[in-house]
Amino acid sequence: MQLTEATTDKGRLLEPARFEHLKGQLRGTLLRPGEPSYDDARRLWNGMVDKRPIAIARCTNDQDVRVALAFACETGLTVAVRGGGHSIAGASCCDGGLMIDLSGMKAIKIDPVRRVARAEPGVLLGEFDAATQRYGLATTMGVNSDTGIAGLTLGGGLGRLGRSVGLACDNLLAAEVVVADGRLLRATEKENSDLLWGLRGGGGNFGIVTAFEYRLHPVGPTVLGGMLLWEWSAARDAMRHYAAFCAVAPDDVDALGVLLTGPDGAPAFAVSAFCAGSIERGEETLRPLREAGPRPAQDMVGPVTYTALQASADGLFPRGRRYHWKSHFLPELRAEAIDVLIRLFEDVPSRMSVIGLQQAGGAIARVSADATAYSNRDAVFDCIPISIWEDAAQDAANIAWSRRVWEAMKPFATGGVYVNNLGDEGEARIRAAYGDNYARLAALKAKYDPSNLFRLNQNIRPAA
Ligand code: FAD
Repeated sequence: MQLTEATTDKGRLLEPARFEHLKGQLRGTLLRPGEPSYDDARRLWNGMVDKRPIAIARCTNDQDVRVALAFACETGLTVAVRGGGHSIAGASCCDGGLMIDLSGMKAIKIDPVRRVARAEPGVLLGEFDAATQRYGLATTMGVNSDTGIAGLTLGGGLGRLGRSVGLACDNLLAAEVVVADGRLLRATEKENSDLLWGLRGGGGNFGIVTAFEYRLHPVGPTVLGGMLLWEWSAARDAMRHYAAFCAVAPDDVDALGVLLTGPDGAPAFAVSAFCAGSIERGEETLRPLREAGPRPAQDMVGPVTYTALQASADGLFPRGRRYHWKSHFLPELRAEAIDVLIRLFEDVPSRMSVIGLQQAGGAIARVSADATAYSNRDAVFDCIPISIWEDAAQDAANIAWSRRVWEAMKPFATGGVYVNNLGDEGEARIRAAYGDNYARLAALKAKYDPSNLFRLNQNIRPAA
């Protein structure tokens, strides 16, 4: 098709020849508005995001990334970086700028002897888990198999294995990164170690990661896990029992709580329970949750493949729905907080919406707060009210509900927040994600990205 002249996000005119030239330099493809795949490529997981980049560079390797970045620098285009496309804030797309799309970079290589995985940034969690599980290995990833490893790892990476082996970023051994001046750097504990420190939680602030290397651990392939569900009449007692269980649960156990609407249309409290150890160990460690408190209406805990368990919540979060997401870290789950969550869930305007309680602690808390950019190591739960709906006419009511839950939970929160769960919430919240690490991150930003080229993210401004 014919390429047309285009106005950038800064109001400059770019002639078609500029794009033709870029197209010729890329091994991957360049998509412009009007081309058949453009709309698919610009769409993110959150249907609320509807941005139109001037062009999308679909990269296939690190050289493509360097070429696309150089083009953005020459033309003054704003850069958005897309891995799996799950950005809560919609930061991986942009209006009028250049989207650097890494979703096609999907190579994964496992070294089962060294227990190391090397994965490119377009890999999704389900793909990563499937590849590592072929060798009975895994590392911490999130709880939705459609999420990208890239954004997840760079923000921290909470998941079922976190309490056993730490965050995804704690297991990040090395990364290859195209930094703002176009150099491809390798970051390890020995080489550019300050950069590795920043990548372990500092988000996409320091460059474009073209490869991640992870430490792997023996897991499964069959583990003990699954869902427990309590009817609404028992939800308050079940949540208190859940809180008490979590307070003493061993580190190889993860219990993800969710207030949701069941298939029968009634609200319910569910827990996705998991033990990283043997099946026998799982029977022993999960028994108090299953048997010592109010009897669940459904107990689906049993032997299950780790990959199936990792995909078990996918139905709650399909791509393309409208989402509004808020979160707070909690130091504990108090009875008064449970009362607030129960009361507000009774008023939920959409039956698709949920409130998640993601467990932290264990191995995550044993790393010191300044060892990595990710700092909120003392958090015990991440409390996440998520409004989910389909009709744009219902935006206001649904956004208001997740905000209301968030406001009501403030008195029970640590004040910290997980950076990957932030929407567009301002600098104070970004600082809350980094605590005392913020100043060091700002200095690192000044070293690797002094002109703040990578600013479509939870942005850390370069120190003056
Ligand atoms: P993208 O939208 O592609 O990218 C998000 C941002 O990451 C970009 O704006 C960019 O700044 C940066 N980025 C992406 N790729 C690169 C790269 N290669 N180099 C440099 N910067 C890059 N988080 C958890 O920790 N645990 C969970 O269990 C969890 N569950 C989730 C479930 C759902 C349904 C959703 C929507 C999110 C969940 N998250 C979870 C949050 C998730 O970690 C973030 O949304 C994360 O940013 C997704 O990464 P992505 O690559 O898919 O996102």
